[in-house]
Amino acid sequence: MTADPAPAAPATPDGITALFRDTYGTEPEGVWAAPGRVNLIGEHTDYNDGFVMPFALPHTTLVAAARRNDRILAVRSADQPGPVVELALEGIGPGRARPAGVPAWTAYPAGVAWALREAGHPIGGASLVVRSTVPVGAGLSSSAALEVGTALALDGLHGLGLTGPGLARAGQRAENAYVGVPSGIMDQMASACCTAGHVLHLDTRALTFRQVPFDMAAAGLRLLVVDTRVQHSLADSGYAERRASCEAGAEALGVPALRDIPAGSLEEALGRLSDPVLRRRVRHVVTENARVAEAAALLREGRPHALGPVLTAGHASLRDDFEVSCPELDLVVATATAAGALGARMTGGGFGGSAVVLVEAGAAERVGKAVTEAAAAAGHPVPRTFTTTPSPGARRLR
Ligand code: ADP
Ligand code: MG
Repeated sequence: MTADPAPAAPATPDGITALFRDTYGTEPEGVWAAPGRVNLIGEHTDYNDGFVMPFALPHTTLVAAARRNDRILAVRSADQPGPVVELALEGIGPGRARPAGVPAWTAYPAGVAWALREAGHPIGGASLVVRSTVPVGAGLSSSAALEVGTALALDGLHGLGLTGPGLARAGQRAENAYVGVPSGIMDQMASACCTAGHVLHLDTRALTFRQVPFDMAAAGLRLLVVDTRVQHSLADSGYAERRASCEAGAEALGVPALRDIPAGSLEEALGRLSDPVLRRRVRHVVTENARVAEAAALLREGRPHALGPVLTAGHASLRDDFEVSCPELDLVVATATAAGALGARMTGGGFGGSAVVLVEAGAAERVGKAVTEAAAAAGHPVPRTFTTTPSPGARRLR
């Protein structure tokens, strides 16, 4: 069987509507959008019940969808080769072998449909077409955009009345139990709950959040996202291993999660751990939660320039204590700060992916150029760099 090429479709409501029509021969009932995200600060804290501060990117995953009455979930992605894949709703469940010819990416929408049914939502069959502008595998959460976009479309079609956290939980359940990636809740909450012009100051235990204004233009600032275009093979095993270390640390310290160690008790807690690796892992999580609180205070006080050193300290902690950075990310951060950036850090799970760089508007071009040149000189892939600003979260477009 030769794979069909990915269908050409502009990433616009009209483009995806046309592709839906070509694919299914009917009109979609709606078009929904869910964004990717960058995390400003608060890394590897979400699975420790801690605090994070992401914002939504302008890059989104569009989902055009319509109900069908045969209890089939039909999915097609304009970003992947291949024809429509039809899955019987009753046949979707974790641990069942993927039938031959069913591409791996379909686990994301199938997992969401399964998770919604598991949560007691009466969803029926649906036809979906997806198309994304979120870079895939760059640590900017194309996976959460696909999950939340699917959940929002199914919510809209079947009138489920889900809230942002409900959409996010379905996405996380799909990713954890169905796709098999043990991610925390940050990415899905960011995609589901962010609003334009704000960062999401999220308590991942309570799933409560505050929208904190972050108007970089008014402050004469820019945020660069630097996608290193590398993803090291350690990304999956390293993530699971760090998660396990954090759980071991919490158990050794007799707390439900590392979130329960306040910064003021860190030294005393570290004194109770004999394993130097575990001590470093715990120190990262506790100090990172404190950095999120500090960043939130700085934004509230209208001092966004002062975020720079907090970001850079966060990177040092991820590099030295949590050990999830890599030479390509370290070079971006070192070069950006040496070239006059206010601060920089890796963002996302690490072992590759993207970094964020906070700069004065006037320095953005110079810093971006320095980062590109340094990567080339080191023989790294040439990074993809763009300026970004907090954008809307998941929403219905039509
Ligand atoms: P990230 O979330 O950082 O982009 P992940 O590895 O978590 O990286 O998720 C990427 C995977 O999500 C892809 O390999 C693919 O399976 C799926 N995916 C994301 N966006 C799309 C899309 N538009 N169409 C099909 N699959 C997608
Ligand atoms: Mg992902």
